[in-house]
Amino acid sequence: TATHRSISSAQLTISSDSPNNNNNIPQNKQDLQFGKVFSSHMLQIPYKGGSGGWQSPEIVPFHDLKISPAASSLHYGLQCFEGMKAYKSVNDSNDIRLFRPQLNMKRLSNSMDRLCMPGSDFDHEELIECIAKLVRLDQDWIPTEEGYSLYIRPTVISTHPYLGVAAPDEILLYVITCPVGPYYPSGFAPVRLTADTPYVRAWPGGTGAAKVGGNYAGSMKPQTDASNRGYSQILWVFGEEEEITEVGAMNVFFFLEKEDGSKGRELVTPPLTRGDILPGVTRQSIIDLSKSWGEFDVVERSITLPEVRKAASEGRLIEAFGAGTAAVVTPISHIEHKGSDIEIPATGDLTKRFFSDLMGIQYGRIEGPEGWSV
Ligand code: PMP
Repeated sequence: TATHRSISSAQLTISSDSPNNNNNIPQNKQDLQFGKVFSSHMLQIPYKGGSGGWQSPEIVPFHDLKISPAASSLHYGLQCFEGMKAYKSVNDSNDIRLFRPQLNMKRLSNSMDRLCMPGSDFDHEELIECIAKLVRLDQDWIPTEEGYSLYIRPTVISTHPYLGVAAPDEILLYVITCPVGPYYPSGFAPVRLTADTPYVRAWPGGTGAAKVGGNYAGSMKPQTDASNRGYSQILWVFGEEEEITEVGAMNVFFFLEKEDGSKGRELVTPPLTRGDILPGVTRQSIIDLSKSWGEFDVVERSITLPEVRKAASEGRLIEAFGAGTAAVVTPISHIEHKGSDIEIPATGDLTKRFFSDLMGIQYGRIEGPEGWSV
């Protein structure tokens, strides 16, 4: 196979023994469980060391991988990934869209770079083109109904068979997909959060801004403890000031009446500057959309738990929600903090507006800003 300095969609091959396992497509959409059933094909692009570089992309039947037990992904967590979706228009089943995939590619490059993986400067448009070909080939797996989509999981692992703690010089980029149903089959379900955890998700100089598997490995125990105590997710805070960072595996927003009596409202989300927050595609889209409305201030600034508690007690906390690809937005109803619950009013008008506007753009019902739909 030819090798390339970058990923080249022109070199993509589809293996000839690639039947569609369409009879495996779940017939009862109601039974769709996230991440359990995978579409017929996968994309794979190896990167070889030495003078190798990126190999030709291949679309092949979904299959088990064969890697050395010494591969450093299996020892040192040299793994990163992305999460994105393909949406099918309800009116035109040929109209299949990705939502701002350039942002996922940029984040994947950053995650690879954080793990010292080679080839992180790949051409983003070329990988998007390869993913688009995979989605087209397996398009029958995308359920045609708003709320349903094809979840796309680009993954990069070190295949370097070396037990030394070292930057890998051999990796595998692959992409698998699975049909998913709506996060809220029966309407919004506000979540109860706890901030009372001894654990920290991320810290300055750590890997919190990268989408690396290790971040999620470290969250299993805190999440299990929180679930056992009756809270659906953790509100992650950082430092003595209790600065809010994220909620579960989502970014977080607070909609407030300003304190200074100017009667203005502001939508606040924590800033990315410290490097302990994942730069969400949904987060950026909510910032961009609400700025374009121009109805209230949109600010990326530090916000602490004591500030949220004070705003709630003064009746200035209008809404709070999490934001991510899986659910789009998730309203927050309670935050446990130092043993007592902060209650958040459940009107949810702004949360619902983001939900319907973003879904509308994703499914092509609403014309979104230039370049958001691919
Ligand atoms: N934070 C974390 C830790 C996440 O795992 C995710 C999901 N990728 C997000 C935020 C939301 O990001 P996005 O809007 O790109 O899905």
